[in-house]
Amino acid sequence: MEEERGKETHILTIPIPAQGHVNPMLQLSKRLASKRLKVTLVTTTSSPLTIRDLAETSSIKIETISDGFDALVTLENFDEYIECFRVVFPQSLAKLLEKLAYSGSPVKFIVYDSHIPWMLDVARGFGLDGAPFFTQPWAVNAIYYHFDHGKLQFPVKGSVVSLPSMPPLGIDDLPSFISEPGSYPSCLNSVLNQFSNIHEPKWILCNTFLELEEKVVNFMASKCPIKTIGPTIPSFYLDKRLQNDNDYGLSLFKPMTETCKTWLDSKEIHSVVYVSFGSLAALGEEQMEEIAWGLKKSNFFFLWVVREPEFAKLPRNFPEETFEKGLVVSWSPQLEVLAHKSVGCFLTHCGWNSTLEALSLGVPMVAMPQWTDQTTNAKFVEDVWQVGFRVRANEKMIVTREEIEICIKEVMEGERSNNIRRNTEKWKKLAKEAIDEGGSSDKNLKEFVTQLLSG
Ligand code: UDP
Repeated sequence: MEEERGKETHILTIPIPAQGHVNPMLQLSKRLASKRLKVTLVTTTSSPLTIRDLAETSSIKIETISDGFDALVTLENFDEYIECFRVVFPQSLAKLLEKLAYSGSPVKFIVYDSHIPWMLDVARGFGLDGAPFFTQPWAVNAIYYHFDHGKLQFPVKGSVVSLPSMPPLGIDDLPSFISEPGSYPSCLNSVLNQFSNIHEPKWILCNTFLELEEKVVNFMASKCPIKTIGPTIPSFYLDKRLQNDNDYGLSLFKPMTETCKTWLDSKEIHSVVYVSFGSLAALGEEQMEEIAWGLKKSNFFFLWVVREPEFAKLPRNFPEETFEKGLVVSWSPQLEVLAHKSVGCFLTHCGWNSTLEALSLGVPMVAMPQWTDQTTNAKFVEDVWQVGFRVRANEKMIVTREEIEICIKEVMEGERSNNIRRNTEKWKKLAKEAIDEGGSSDKNLKEFVTQLLSG
């Protein structure tokens, strides 16, 4: 009976068009569809992301509607984009809802990215209900929440910040929008905006798992109805319960899959340092050079993702000079790489998706955060989850080749590497258990779906 009714319960999921937001929303959609909801993920015409292969393999549908924006969305025009989105998207959504209702599949509920909190009013305006989906961890969200509630103010005073249910945080551990006020005012607005109506929705979904952030999740759950549902990694890498869920099925760039795989296959277990700074970070030329020589000096094999626009920043002849030790690619199939037995550590910017992927796949990290939430994620990687080390920058804000070499060696084979590896195994197990049958995230998803079905 529940299955039959579930088939009729149709929900929309609405991400914002950035890889780090679409991937988790897509995975959440697949999980909800596996629990008998009918799910349509809504993308927008300006999104550069192409969703591959979903038609044949996925349990969810995709609809693309207009957001009225002609340009590519970048950090520089993000504010302009969100304003345009806010005006045009609800109009396009109205037409989509009408079309779906006409086709006999009316929508009942909307899950939307937490960066567009006004979607709740839009949904309610259409007579529906909605829930935000937070794609960042609560370690980070809670800091914004406290800032929004006046517990933290500009300029942040003292060298250590004490917040409820959080470890003591240095200024460098805070998200950069708070430790460096004025650096990206529109981004700060956008992250704080997530809390503008936080007490209104009946559910707040988030991409983390209870065991990873128990203290802060329990604290925040006493303020608002948060439900951890992560990690949103394809099922193949965790519980293997969803068929055909081997991949996100969507990518900003074309991964050099065969090249990476062939190269990794020829290497010994845990002998390779995988290096990637995600889809957005643009490092300075001097910093790129330090990483390059740090990798060379460490003398481990390395697989380094250098996106095409960044390539010119590599030292001259670097790939040729280091071809016996290293492979530089423009984009990798990151999950496959992290799951490969030859990978021994991940030099990462600590973007939340990369961090969750490394935690879920049991890969030790060398954290080299750049901005936004990465600084806080790096703090937790080093001090709370104890799955890696964080490099420190010098007075010129450069992480030197020596520092990179030392941290890589420490994580790969140093005194504390055994402890780190034990911890990565622990988190890997807990991540899988959380999403597997009866785990904390699975229970939250079930409860959410049950309430939607009965509501
Ligand atoms: N990624 C990938 N190939 C690469 C580098 C990254 O597929 O060569 C994926 C990675 O698996 C992750 C996402 O891109 O899912 C990056 O997200 P994250 O939140 O770590 O960083 P952002 O790109 O948002 O800075």
